[in-house]
Amino acid sequence: MKLLQKKIEEEGIVLSSNVLKVDAFLNHQIDPQLMKEIGKEFAYRFANEGITKILTIESSGISPALMAGLYLETPVIFARKKTSLTLINDLWTAEVHSFTKNETNKIAVSKHYLTERDRVLVIDDFLANGQAVLGLINIVQQAGSSLSGIGIVIEKSFQNGRMLLEEMNIRVESLARVKSLENGKVVFLEEEAV
Ligand code: 5GP
Repeated sequence: MKLLQKKIEEEGIVLSSNVLKVDAFLNHQIDPQLMKEIGKEFAYRFANEGITKILTIESSGISPALMAGLYLETPVIFARKKTSLTLINDLWTAEVHSFTKNETNKIAVSKHYLTERDRVLVIDDFLANGQAVLGLINIVQQAGSSLSGIGIVIEKSFQNGRMLLEEMNIRVESLARVKSLENGKVVFLEEEAV
């Protein structure tokens, strides 16, 4: 997605050879117009899939997932990283190791919102080693829902998340695919011809 690549080039900051900071438009400050286009693109790629729910993880997955839900006309569920007073019982849970924080969190989704009748699109902001997405897939499986695929805003293709998912025959649609972050520079994989 050219618009997203341009935004990454202009406003992304390469923190190291494997971490990209995009606080300017996705992880802290949010660009609603860009999120709208991202939502539209996910909806286009997953149209006619019979999606009934979008599942993401708080907090940075919420804005792209919400916009995709707007265009696909489905509810959006975000897995919580902490249980709250109102989210205690009837939970699907999974363990997720965080790439950026280097800690393991339990994520939770209420059993009320995900059932065996649902067909789910999982969306997240980044795909690195795939742990966040694997945790969400685990919850989809526990709920007995069917998985349509994974929508990722920024994939770091030099890490092994995509490979793990492809080995499981899971469809992955990433809107920007970063080939390398070496020498402080973002290099993208060629966009596949449409
Ligand atoms: P994974 O679970 O695929 O290893 O890592 C994905 C999660 O870690 C995402 O939900 C995202 O929040 C975070 N993450 C991984 N790599 C990066 C990165 O380079 N930049 C930012 N901003 N977040 C990342």
